Amino acid sequence: MKGPKKPEHEIYALKYAGPLTSSGAFLMWLMEWEKTETRNYYFWYIKGGMEPIVVDCGISPRMAKLRNVPGYIKPSDVLARIQIDPLSIKNVILTHFHWDHYSGIELFPNARFFIQEQEFNFWIKNPVAKKPPFARFTDDISSGYLASLEGTEKLILINKDKEIMPGIEVLFAPGHSPALQAVAVSTAQGTAILGSDAAAIFRNYKENWPSAITIDLVATLNTYDKLKKKASSIDLIFPGHDRRMLEEYPVIEEDITKLA
Ligand SMILES: [Zn+2]
Repeated sequence: MKGPKKPEHEIYALKYAGPLTSSGAFLMWLMEWEKTETRNYYFWYIKGGMEPIVVDCGISPRMAKLRNVPGYIKPSDVLARIQIDPLSIKNVILTHFHWDHYSGIELFPNARFFIQEQEFNFWIKNPVAKKPPFARFTDDISSGYLASLEGTEKLILINKDKEIMPGIEVLFAPGHSPALQAVAVSTAQGTAILGSDAAAIFRNYKENWPSAITIDLVATLNTYDKLKKKASSIDLIFPGHDRRMLEEYPVIEEDITKLA
């Protein structure tokens, strides 16, 4: 006999910024310099489980202004288009400590944040994270806020793979950052994975070729294998920035698509 059936969740991608255009080499590491390619900025919403979950928070208005982000809409305003009040969100999974994924934490003041302990320790406590190639990915105010939550129930530090709610499992997926976590989600189509920036675009997984922002190539390629083994299909592994997430899935509202 099988165990109790896992809840079937729905996954939505919410585009809050972009398109940004750059060399293709940004998305396909050291290849395609002569091509140009565009990317979008997203966060994700998971519905249908015990409680709604937001995966990543996007960029805060302050950082969007500071870095002049094109096409920016406050992530909480995008979420409001599907009648979700950001103040009602109690669970946020942060995949990693890059400014475009975590500086929007201030938009979800009532949430608790799930983060890999190793990711937290690197960005908050390791002096090398303050050096320029790493520091450009962070935001001191957001990091300071998360650091202030350590030891409280609002910060949940996770060690590697863990089912945090029925049908929602975080997966240790390093390579793009020291301890990025992907999110495996039970859906009507099987196990889908929000990989966030484990890969930037679908092609990274399909061609086993990472994006330019890779701090550990070996870890990245092992992460690809791990996520492909876990997902019910390679088409159910969603990357961080592929414009196809907006263009090729059913549109629910402006800038919002249903992935699974
Ligand atoms: Zn990133």
